[in-house]
Amino acid sequence: MYDLGSVDAQAVHIDFESIAQKYNAWFDKLRKKCNRCYNIDMCTQCIFNLDIEKDEPGCNGFISHRAYSQYLSSYMSFLEQEPKLFKEILTKVIVE
Ligand code: SF4
Repeated sequence: MYDLGSVDAQAVHIDFESIAQKYNAWFDKLRKKCNRCYNIDMCTQCIFNLDIEKDEPGCNGFISHRAYSQYLSSYMSFLEQEPKLFKEILTKVIVE
C-alpha cells in the first residue's frame, strides 16, 4: 500500500510525481484536523500509523482546546504546589 515504486530485472521504477500526489493527498486529509490540534508544535504522529486511506482519518494524538487547557491547568497546579521545583525549573532547565 505504501510502496514508492517497483524493481524488476531491468531497473528501479519510481514515479516522483505520483509519490508527491499521494503524500499531498494524505496530508490534505489530515490538515483540517491538524489545524485545530493543540499538539501540532510537538506532533510526532506518523501518518502510517493512522487509517490514512479513510476519507477522514482519526488521530490518537489530537489534542483539543479543552484537553490542552486541562493539561496546562494540571501542570500549573502541580507547580503551584511545588514552588521549589518551579524555581529549579526556571533556573536550571530553562536557563541552561
Ligand atoms: S497529533 Fe494528529 S491531529 Fe495533531 S498535529 Fe499531529 S497528526 Fe495532526
